[in-house]
Amino acid sequence: MKYQSTRAEVKDKGISISEAMLIGLARDGGLFIPKFLPAFCANDFGENLNETAYRFLEIFFMNDQLENNLREICDNTFNFSIPMVHLEKRIEILELYHGPTGAFKDVGARFLAYSLNKLDKHLTVMVATSGDTGSAVASAFHNMENIDVAVLYPKDRISEFQEKQLTCWDNNIKSFRVDGDFDYCQNMVKEIFNSTNRSESLKITSANSINIGRLLPQCVYYVSSSLEYYKKYDIYANYIIPTGNMGNALAAIWTKLMGLPIGKIILASNINDTIPIYFDSGIFKSKPTIRTIASAMDVGRPSNMERYLNLKAFYNFDLSEISAYSVSDEEIKSAIKDVYNRFDRIICPHTATAFVVMKKIDLDSCIIVSTAHPSKFIDTVKPIVNCEIPIPKNMENHINNPANIIDIQTIDDLMDKITQ
Ligand SMILES: *Cc1c(COP(=O)(O)O)cnc(C)c1O
Repeated sequence: MKYQSTRAEVKDKGISISEAMLIGLARDGGLFIPKFLPAFCANDFGENLNETAYRFLEIFFMNDQLENNLREICDNTFNFSIPMVHLEKRIEILELYHGPTGAFKDVGARFLAYSLNKLDKHLTVMVATSGDTGSAVASAFHNMENIDVAVLYPKDRISEFQEKQLTCWDNNIKSFRVDGDFDYCQNMVKEIFNSTNRSESLKITSANSINIGRLLPQCVYYVSSSLEYYKKYDIYANYIIPTGNMGNALAAIWTKLMGLPIGKIILASNINDTIPIYFDSGIFKSKPTIRTIASAMDVGRPSNMERYLNLKAFYNFDLSEISAYSVSDEEIKSAIKDVYNRFDRIICPHTATAFVVMKKIDLDSCIIVSTAHPSKFIDTVKPIVNCEIPIPKNMENHINNPANIIDIQTIDDLMDKITQ
């Protein structure tokens, strides 16, 4: 399999997945996508998640230098459970939060980390985070010998627990607290990427969801859950997916196009409604970011939209099965309360957006994608449900280590302190 930029011509000869993961963002500013999406059928897969991961990803690594490491990479990535849990009727919840930092981003971050580590090159991984990506990346890369990690996060715009998760590291991980918002952090990273001098001296790659190495492994849980759902109910699974940068939802859309039993794909956004506006009007226009209580989805310019628009241009698929809705903070709060009262289940504010949408469109068969553990957002959730939210064992590692924080304001600050 070869990969090319979303901005390249179809006849472009493409590069390997290892190269695409190392570069992160294509030189022309586009995002890497596979040359084609292969077709699968139900009996192509294994009994457990690791085996399914390997069989699904094999073709994407064909003829790549990591081909023979893929099984080990999958085993290391998928070493925690991703259960589909019954709620009521034909409604299931896909719990993506049992990894070491309690968000679905553990899957992509771990896969990317184990892959890059096998390539045995000296690298700096840069990541701007609105909260969850940074800790997933830090945890995945911690103590890897040849790879340094710089995490940039916006001061005073993440939860207290998230900040703890971002700053409890040492050795090869540096956490930069930036005096600015998430877009400002992301722009710093982009500027370093675009400046040849700076990026050559650091040999950087990006661990944001623009990196194809994070996106492909996310398809795996859509493969396994849609097959499980089909087996159980004999119908295609509709998914409701809390969406910010559109990485997780794009993985679901790719998986559907590859032939898995997936029906509707419904995207739930907070009031940052760039994506719902696009699906309603066909017009894609980025907007300034608005702060919400589902902060990991506070994105005004969803970068994976470029991959979606590319798909639309090259594949002839039925768009009516994909839709998007915007949800307010008030609706999020009342969904958290309602789900707790009715099902005795505590959900995070992001997962709550999917519950709001399910009710809005009155869907009675679906899989709700649960993107994070509620304890990460205890400041928001606890006052609503009024009970203790214990931190699960899998998230406890490192969390009580002393915080290592480097405060910065400008890109020159960052360049000075990154090499110290
Ligand atoms: C990142 C994140 C999202 C949004 O996922 P995208 O792939 O950016 O659309 C939703 N929920 C949580 C908890 C997240 O951390």
